[in-house]
Amino acid sequence: MVPRHRPESATVKRRRLVVVFALAAVLAVVCVLTWRVAWRRGIDDLQQQAAVRSDRTANALKDTLDRYESLSYLLASHPLVQEALEHPTPEAISRANRYLEDANRHAHATVTYIVRADGLCLAASNWSQADTFVSSNYQFRPYFVDAMKGDAGRFFGIGTVSHVPGYFVSEPVYRDGRIIGVAVVKLNLEWFPGNDENEPLLVADNHGVIFLSSVPAWKYRATAPLPASISETIDQARQYARKSLTPLPIAPVRVLNRDAQIVRVGDARFGPHYLATRRALRVPAWQVISLSPIDPVVADARNATAAVGFGFVSACLLVFYWRTRRARLREMMRGRAMLQAAYAELNERVAERTADLSAANARLQTEVSERTRAESELRAAHDELVQTSKLAALGQMAAGITHELNQPLAALRAFSDNTRVLLERGDQVSARENLEAISSLTERMGKITNQLKLFVGRAQPRTARAQVARALSNALNVLQVRLKTVALDVSIRDTETAHGATSESLDLSADYPGLVAYCDDLRLEQALINLVGNALDAVGETAHPRIAIDVDASFATLSITVRDNGPGIPADVLPRLFEPFFTTKGMGQGLGLGLAIASSIARDCGGALSARNMPEGGAAFVLTLRRAIASHSHT
Ligand code: ADP
Repeated sequence: MVPRHRPESATVKRRRLVVVFALAAVLAVVCVLTWRVAWRRGIDDLQQQAAVRSDRTANALKDTLDRYESLSYLLASHPLVQEALEHPTPEAISRANRYLEDANRHAHATVTYIVRADGLCLAASNWSQADTFVSSNYQFRPYFVDAMKGDAGRFFGIGTVSHVPGYFVSEPVYRDGRIIGVAVVKLNLEWFPGNDENEPLLVADNHGVIFLSSVPAWKYRATAPLPASISETIDQARQYARKSLTPLPIAPVRVLNRDAQIVRVGDARFGPHYLATRRALRVPAWQVISLSPIDPVVADARNATAAVGFGFVSACLLVFYWRTRRARLREMMRGRAMLQAAYAELNERVAERTADLSAANARLQTEVSERTRAESELRAAHDELVQTSKLAALGQMAAGITHELNQPLAALRAFSDNTRVLLERGDQVSARENLEAISSLTERMGKITNQLKLFVGRAQPRTARAQVARALSNALNVLQVRLKTVALDVSIRDTETAHGATSESLDLSADYPGLVAYCDDLRLEQALINLVGNALDAVGETAHPRIAIDVDASFATLSITVRDNGPGIPADVLPRLFEPFFTTKGMGQGLGLGLAIASSIARDCGGALSARNMPEGGAAFVLTLRRAIASHSHT
């Protein structure tokens, strides 16, 4: 048996679909989890790096600012500065200018200058330059106002004269407990955020206005929309030279903690996302904002997700492959087992069948041997029977011969005795008559013995072939004198060749090559003479004697029927017809050997002789012989 491919059932298909969906769901969950974990971890790492960067930046800024705060204090307490403010003579101002210039150079500040109590700048480190601050009025500047109040002033703004943005640190200048002016240090901080546009660094003031930025376009933009009052204050202080301060489109996406959040910059839905980390300086109330792009984190998370997804799918495929392989292997094993079982069954069946056959063969052999034994027994019985019947026939024959010969013998003795007496008397005539009678008696006895010779005639081989037409012709010739008184009707019919002839067209002397029977010519002739002779005897007293002879040839047999319109065969005679010496004819007319001889000839030739009465009256004798093939015939 070959394993057949079974059609998948609906349940198997459904189960497979469910498994595929479940795996897809698991894949989705795994991907989402991987994404989240990788993203979270990436963001945490980024946050740590950003925190370090922010801290470092904020500290650096703070240090710088602190340093210049001390410088303004030192300037404010310097006698040249105080002198110039107290007595602003050209000499004093000139000295102050030189001092400021020198101090500025050494401290690496941008500009240092002193402002009189009314806001007018008296001396400045850039006194000799074209865009000098000297003679400018700064009374509107918050750092001046604060310092005049006795506080330290801190202010970032765009220079009204130089138009250069800077950080202003101011200290009041005291003389005799009075504030006579203000000492100011202006620092250019433009260098501070650098120009790294990939990792923007911003510094925003207390109102959220970005005044330092590594991305030039973001400078002087508000981190959130400014209230009108604050805008006005900024305007009045001319802090940012009346720039519009439009808000920067920066939208928080996710708050990680107080100082860190993920923001989107720009209006586009998928605009660049950054991790924004804030550090407040407190004095001044600025905040340092460092932006770290989260693109690498996203890319890493995406890669990790893809790798895990790919791994999961690969594992699924591997499991599927393994399962399929195992199923195929199992199917193969099952097929092999089935094949083995079928083979074993076949062997068993063959063995059974062989056993059956052997048994049948044995039975057959037994049967054959039994048959053979029965046959040999039968043959023995037959032989015995033949022997017995032969003996019986011999007895009958002996009785017949005795009977037949006794009478003529007795007559012979009587005649011879009588003849002797007649010769003694000299009666020659009577003696001659007696001798003639003796002669006819011996002739009769000779006939009897001649007839008997036919019985003991040499058995011809069963392969001898006889031309039936010729044998019939010869037999009719022998009886032609007696046949003259009867109407003879001869017909030949060959059903095999559809060849036929009746007595009118019949020429028995012609060759009928198809009509060949297995028999000896002479013996067939003898048998026919006996049958036709009997028919002639039977019609002896019939008014219109008729004899018909039909030769019928079929495929395998040849039958010769001799019919007459005589009295027929009496019922009591019929069973004894073929007995030797059985006759109903009178003394000297029949020996009762004709039919016995004819039937013995028929038997010897492998044929048969049968007798019956015709319905219309008369008897019919049928001699059946085996037909021989014409081409093999020989006479
Ligand atoms: P026989 O002719 O010498 O009597 P057969 O053996 O030839 O001896 O015949 C035996 C007997 O069969 C005959 O005596 C006769 O009674 C009967 N018989 C034979 N032929 C015919 C026949 N054609 N019609 C009627 N009886 C017949």
